[in-house]
Amino acid sequence: MVTNLQARDAATVLHPYSNLSTLPAQGSLILERGEGVFVYDVDGKPYLEGMAGLWCNALGHGREELVQAAAEQMRKLPFAHLFTGKSHDPAIALAEKLKELAPTQAAKVFFCNSGSEANDTQVKLVWYVNNALGRPQKKKIISRIKAYHGVTVASASLTGLPNNHIDFDLPIAGIRHAACPHHYRFALDGESEEQFATRLADDLDAMIQAEGPETVAAFIAEPVMGAGGVIVPPKTYFEKIQQVLEKHDVMLIADEVICGFGRLGEWFGSTALGMKPDTISIAKQLSSSYAPIAGVIIPDWIDDALTSQSAKIGVFGHGFTYSGHPVAAAVALKTLEIYERENILGHVRSIVPHFQKRLTAFADHPLVGEARGVGLVGALEAVADKATKRSFDPKRAVAAKIVAFAEEEGLIVRAIGDAVSICPPLVITEAEIDLLFDRLGRALDRAEGWAS
Ligand code: PLP
Repeated sequence: MVTNLQARDAATVLHPYSNLSTLPAQGSLILERGEGVFVYDVDGKPYLEGMAGLWCNALGHGREELVQAAAEQMRKLPFAHLFTGKSHDPAIALAEKLKELAPTQAAKVFFCNSGSEANDTQVKLVWYVNNALGRPQKKKIISRIKAYHGVTVASASLTGLPNNHIDFDLPIAGIRHAACPHHYRFALDGESEEQFATRLADDLDAMIQAEGPETVAAFIAEPVMGAGGVIVPPKTYFEKIQQVLEKHDVMLIADEVICGFGRLGEWFGSTALGMKPDTISIAKQLSSSYAPIAGVIIPDWIDDALTSQSAKIGVFGHGFTYSGHPVAAAVALKTLEIYERENILGHVRSIVPHFQKRLTAFADHPLVGEARGVGLVGALEAVADKATKRSFDPKRAVAAKIVAFAEEEGLIVRAIGDAVSICPPLVITEAEIDLLFDRLGRALDRAEGWAS
């Protein structure tokens, strides 16, 4: 039975990433409030937030300090911009802090509002900087199949998922997609992780040679693919990929929108997985999602090229009204302060073994083909046949069924194709991890009964 509020919702809100044809009859799950790692729907039913919202709400709900930081900034200076040589203290202090935390040489931070905007900015910087450097033919960007980099025109083009391209007339020109580094699905029979990584690096080398190295400018990668189904790269992958990139003078863009700020127990996923990026996209956990803010961290050589373009053109013609919004910047600054003061990275490192132990134990479940993860993120991939890895008929939407059962059990997780992804707030405790996986286990058992 759809409630009045659900009917009003379906009649007026155009829902992202939803089946618009079935939603009106199903009704949205309408949330009202949150407390720690729990959210409550309009009937007061609690759910353990097993996805930290959308991989973002690191500190959980009800952090009064973040509310205070926003309120104080709103009182003092609710809006000021960074255009035409203007600035404000929260943006300056946040940029300084990010430079200090960055895992590679960092000159400056460009602020924006979303991960998509950050990655669109990355694309524009690649094009602009190569023009500045006098190599206008070096413009192509290589992403990967199953990558997720956003939904704006350029970032959706980088995204390597069919639903972000079909009938949107994407991708745009100059974007290529290399193979997905998912060993369970794409390794050859008997191929070790290292051998698989070598093959992927060789394939990338061949792709760059075929395109013409003088035309390939950048390679973009999430340290761990998130919205493509939580795909952890095989051992030695980035080391081998980076050798190829260096050989052809192709820069590396790290999309740290999910992995940044503690998800893998380090400030940046790049550090955890041995990536040495030239530029970095950040968003989500930067403010624990209490306010929308994102950014691109750039090194000296890009900053120098941008500066020389300004000497020539007169202006750096890029920026958003809300770039470095003072309220969002103040909230982000406070978030980073809390991460440090409460040693959130240390907490993540201490609970990861328990999280991964409970996650990987599901590899024995009859419905689960692969239980994969790293740090505080993971996924269970449902299969019809464990031995052959045969997938279910997509029409049965088994992962969506598991997620629906989990919701009934009081747990929010997310279906991505055949996978169920789990990405709890970083502050989750060991007891809450047990609650999460106990509920997920019951959902899996119910789905097994339903599927058989
Ligand atoms: N990059 C990655 C790795 C993401 O996971 C996302 C969103 O999930 C984005 C970019 C896009 O961010 P947004 O939804 O804020 O535009």
